Amino acid sequence: MEEAMQIGHTSGDGAFTKKCQEFFRSKFGMANTLLTTSATHALEMCAILAEIEPEDEVIMPSYTFSSTANAFALRGARIIFVDSLKEHPNMDPSAVEAAITDRTKAIVVVHYGGVACDMDRIMAAASSVDAMVIEDAAQAIDAYYKGKPLGSIGHMAAFSFHGTKNISCGEGGLFVANSKELYKKAEIIREKGTNRNEFFRGEVDKYGWIGVGSSYLPSDLLAAFLLAQLESLSVIQRQRILLWEQYHLKLSSLQNIGFSLPMILEDGTNNGHVFYLICRSMQDRIDMISFLMQKGVKAVFHYLPLHKSPYHLSQVEEVPLLVNAELYGERLLRLPLFAGMTDDEHDLICNSVLEYCGLV
Ligand SMILES: *Cc1c(COP(=O)(O)O)cnc(C)c1O
Repeated sequence: MEEAMQIGHTSGDGAFTKKCQEFFRSKFGMANTLLTTSATHALEMCAILAEIEPEDEVIMPSYTFSSTANAFALRGARIIFVDSLKEHPNMDPSAVEAAITDRTKAIVVVHYGGVACDMDRIMAAASSVDAMVIEDAAQAIDAYYKGKPLGSIGHMAAFSFHGTKNISCGEGGLFVANSKELYKKAEIIREKGTNRNEFFRGEVDKYGWIGVGSSYLPSDLLAAFLLAQLESLSVIQRQRILLWEQYHLKLSSLQNIGFSLPMILEDGTNNGHVFYLICRSMQDRIDMISFLMQKGVKAVFHYLPLHKSPYHLSQVEEVPLLVNAELYGERLLRLPLFAGMTDDEHDLICNSVLEYCGLV
């Protein structure tokens, strides 16, 4: 960050922004990336690029963060929420297939906890109606589907570097395009609707307002912070995955008394983003949260399914019954997971969970 200050280019698209984008090219083969101020903003860019218009249908899971839907709602889309799988919070590809109509303009997949959705099936479903596939890869850095990095499979993708993610700069994100054409348009959207980037590359002799857009570039100071995190990716990932595996091992007996532990779907990998328990009931979750709190452990639940959110209810006349999304909304509980957690901290958490369950 000091170096960024010394160079004196503290606004967006400086040397460190380029180095972060270069990291994604060399490590994951993503040639068309743009650092953004958040994954939410990268998703907003995707919605503009997908040319979403009022009444276009966009299919996505209900069990996700508001940003996934909000980016498309801003453009007037009709959001079609589908259910999660029974065995995993990821959306059910057969529900996606059933939701496709000739008005489907885009499908947004969310790789929950960095575990890959069934991309072959979803890409095939999308191409049957010429819809775009956008990967909300906010949680999915360094995670793979059949060996391919998540975020490189759909037409576009968004990563997050929010403080809660594996790699973070406080607030930040990355837009990914899978074609030069989308990438060139994305540059303009990210630069307030101007072709400023082309101007600085000497491709045009003046720049101006040529389309709609916004200000989606982060400061190069944040990019410098982010680059240091990216350079430590393998260390951070090794620690997180180890903690995840130790949780699974130490807590496996919970499965005998009605809890479920996280699983990695076939064709996916584990990037150690989140370790969760599926409690036996909503009350069980409430009780466990307060028990753990007394032990000094902060465990938290996750999404409230969006198909029942106050905003969506104000927009539609009827809501579908999405039993699995609702189950995760009521029973999923996340345990602390961060690089740098000590063995003592990990033991305290595991022992407290086992004690709550009467297993020690
Ligand atoms: C964190 C997250 C986002 C939002 O990321 P920001 O960078 O905070 O905008 C969107 N979608 C999912 C699935 C997330 O986990």
